[in-house]
Amino acid sequence: MAMESVVHYFNARRSLGRVAQANRSLHTPHVAAKLAASMTKASAHNMRSFNREKEYSATWASQFFPLPHEAYWPQSSITLLTSSDLRRKGSGRPRSTRLRNGMDSKEGRRASLCGICKKSGHYQKTYPSRPRKRPAEP
Ligand SMILES: [Zn+2]
Repeated sequence: MAMESVVHYFNARRSLGRVAQANRSLHTPHVAAKLAASMTKASAHNMRSFNREKEYSATWASQFFPLPHEAYWPQSSITLLTSSDLRRKGSGRPRSTRLRNGMDSKEGRRASLCGICKKSGHYQKTYPSRPRKRPAEP
């Protein structure tokens, strides 16, 4: 979740919490609806609320403070040293240095066969005389 989304998420829920507190409601509308549905469903059961005064408000009480401009950051005493020897050479995946042995090869493995003619060298998807899909006519 992007930082702006998190801030928006917390702001929206903080507002809901304030409205719920102003109305002396113990729960947000979403939670109240879920509770009502649960109470209807389990009308024969007993239900106890837990820490109901502080629960919802404390959850969304955290606030975000914006990061100041880079010019106001304290100076660091750390200097970064770069070395071309430490950089990766070339592109792509690094070559494995593991030594392969006889246990790496699988025994009894047969070549894959075509699903249509049961021959090797091609697959059902690349069957030589398989009709190709035509592009839609305009
Ligand atoms: Zn075939």
